[in-house]
Amino acid sequence: MSAIEKKIPYKIYLEESEMPKAWYNLRADMKNKPSPLLNAETKQPMTAEELGVVFCEELVKQELDDVNAYYPIPQEILDFYRMYRPAPLVRAYCLEEKLQTPAKIYYKFEGNNTSGSHKLNSAIAQAYYAKNQGLTGVTTETGAGQWGTALSMACAYLGLDCKVYMVKVSYEQKPHRREVMRTYGASVTPSPSTETEVGRKILEAHPGTGGSLGCAISEAVEKATSMEGYRYVLGSVLNQVMLHQSIIGLETKAAMDKYGIKPDIIIGCAGGGSNLGGLIAPFMGEKIRGEADYRIIAVEPASCPSFTRGKYAYDYCDTGMVCPLAKMYTLGSNFIPAPTHAGGLRYHGMNPTLSQLYADGLMEATTVAQTEVFAAAEQFARVEGILPAPESSHAIKVAIDEAMKCKETGEEKTILFGLTGTGYFDMMSYEKFHNGVMTDYVPSDEEIAKGLAGLPAVEL
Ligand SMILES: *Cc1c(COP(=O)(O)O)cnc(C)c1O
Repeated sequence: MSAIEKKIPYKIYLEESEMPKAWYNLRADMKNKPSPLLNAETKQPMTAEELGVVFCEELVKQELDDVNAYYPIPQEILDFYRMYRPAPLVRAYCLEEKLQTPAKIYYKFEGNNTSGSHKLNSAIAQAYYAKNQGLTGVTTETGAGQWGTALSMACAYLGLDCKVYMVKVSYEQKPHRREVMRTYGASVTPSPSTETEVGRKILEAHPGTGGSLGCAISEAVEKATSMEGYRYVLGSVLNQVMLHQSIIGLETKAAMDKYGIKPDIIIGCAGGGSNLGGLIAPFMGEKIRGEADYRIIAVEPASCPSFTRGKYAYDYCDTGMVCPLAKMYTLGSNFIPAPTHAGGLRYHGMNPTLSQLYADGLMEATTVAQTEVFAAAEQFARVEGILPAPESSHAIKVAIDEAMKCKETGEEKTILFGLTGTGYFDMMSYEKFHNGVMTDYVPSDEEIAKGLAGLPAVEL
């Protein structure tokens, strides 16, 4: 390791004065814009008025904006960010040493808050705009529980009511997650539930189902639209969420620029695409503008391969078909993935902006199986001291693979990956891995075809 090398600290923090003051809207720089959300009945682009029935006004504006590159972050949100940001950019010296690789590995760690993930970055923004609009509360879904926890924290801070529909398998498997949300004052209902019409329908069609994110979304939307003073908020997938998550990439870029570091490869796990979209945003902006080039890799679970085996088509965002249609890489809204251990990555679709970038060949995607993901997680935990979330470990796995390729070729590539969160609520999954009873589920071509057969017909 050279002397200059060593000058890069293990953790690069930004000074408060260096913190980003505006979110970056990557869509403004895209030549091919993501396709608009469509009204499921008329198949016409959703208007702000129609979206306003479900979402907060300011968030609707952000969702529909393909033009403005920067959104100043309101002072109240900056103040909240200060409680847990800047997130450290870590040089994984110990992992590099362990792997004996010439690659330089960096990760942006988003697990330094009670929700344990990056989701708080958008939760506080969405809760803020709901509060600003004079609403009483918000409803949402949560899968593994990180988003529900993040939103509960944000709502508690701002004094908003928070109703969370939690995917039933997670509700049962993660009672402690549920109690964290209740500590922050949220009400938590296992989904599908009998509280909503759509929940009752799903239960009738699939008795005993453990639920899915798509079901929980349908229930939360129905609840929000049937109660005065409530709106629905979503933790991923939407372009507005990616906008808020750009804070991850902006901080990372600022920290790297400070030390003259330029990543060759940028890796992120992809569920609905928000952390990946946020991490890559400023780098992708440079790539699109022709100012720099980066290899960007989305990592998804082999059990829920939206990018790699899905179709780029208009689809419902939820199982109950109450949401607008989005053009995205999707496995079909009635695709219910096997109950894997990376709950946060079990969504049938993908953020529309990332979908367009992938369709345009500006980024790659790959899949990994869960046992190899946990093996990588353990390897990482033992040298870097952080117990990673299973979701984040998808990115770790591919980062390690790329670092090992560098070892073979002798290339000193700089690898950056997003470490989205911690895995303290996932010890049942770690236990399965340690006991050797974890299996790798890969859907068959028939299962994939069945999900895709349910796509709505849209002629544009
Ligand atoms: C939710 C979650 C993800 C996946 O969501 P994206 O919207 O794809 O970023 C990844 N990691 C963690 C820790 C999560 O909680």
